Amino acid sequence: MLNSHTVLTGLFGHPVGHSLSPVMHNRAFNVCGLNYRYAAFDIQPERVGSAVDAIRALGIRGVNVTVPHKISVIPYLDEIDEEAALIGAVNTIVNENGRLVGYNTDGRGYVRSLVEESGINVRKQSAVMIGAGGGARGVAVALLQAGLPSLVIVNRSVDKAKQLAEDIKHVNPSSVVHTVVPGDIPDVIKESTLLIQTTSVGMHPNVLETPLAPELLHEGMLVSDLVYNPLQTKLLQEAHNRGARTHGGLGMLIYQGALSFEYWTGIKAPVDEMRAAAMKELEKRS
Ligand code: NDP
Repeated sequence: MLNSHTVLTGLFGHPVGHSLSPVMHNRAFNVCGLNYRYAAFDIQPERVGSAVDAIRALGIRGVNVTVPHKISVIPYLDEIDEEAALIGAVNTIVNENGRLVGYNTDGRGYVRSLVEESGINVRKQSAVMIGAGGGARGVAVALLQAGLPSLVIVNRSVDKAKQLAEDIKHVNPSSVVHTVVPGDIPDVIKESTLLIQTTSVGMHPNVLETPLAPELLHEGMLVSDLVYNPLQTKLLQEAHNRGARTHGGLGMLIYQGALSFEYWTGIKAPVDEMRAAAMKELEKRS
């Protein structure tokens, strides 16, 4: 029940109507017996500064930040955690007695999901990552921090791939990071053990799209797609048909949320409950 002790959290984005985070977090607060609530706030881009001020003014415990505000909130915060600074984007704000600290849990959430759900050893993979947007930045930084020895980045806009490689090459000095143009994918993919799809290709409603010709996929690889709607993208279906192992994007969503929950509440997130709530909501919508 909402009362005068309820602690408020939420999401800043634009739009936010599609987000699974409210059902996921409210279920988590509920099962943990916490008097917390999570609301979705649709913030116009020109209002980001006032919205961040409102966190202080209203004593909101913290918020998640999503597209298109992950970068634009940064100047309004009091402190940026080292990892978020490296990624160049914030997805979680924590209000420590009026002092706002920005974190990024996307990449760590991805690696936790990848390792727990597939069982792979990141330190032994040779990875190709398609895409160089916000999601890709978090994933690449976290994989390098987790000890990934080799990362090839390929993106439709080649300059963005080069910029990302430049920005992250120092994250792990013993890792090799380089870029190729889309036409060179067939060459690099042959040798790779992990393919990470971070673009929006294949996302609802464009569920018949895939970024790669299926014959490039092989059984020696794990194919991981950040897209979680649909849960099984066309790329993952084709990877499965070619004998490759697959990993979908829902786990990343759950674990980035779980890490935010842990920052706000200081207690371990009920990950299974959060996943069940998100799955139920996705099923309701399909
Ligand atoms: P961005 O807008 O930051 O980046 C989009 C990326 O997709 C860019 O690399 C862009 O290439 C590429 N892209 C878009 N359309 C095409 C196309 N038609 N052909 C080739 N490349 C294309 O988005 P995000 O990184 O935030 O999100 C990307 C996807 O990842 C979304 O589907 C999102 O839902 C998912 N995601 C999932 C998360 C999870 O928790 N599972 C977390 C974050 C993201 P270019 O640079 O050339 O424009």
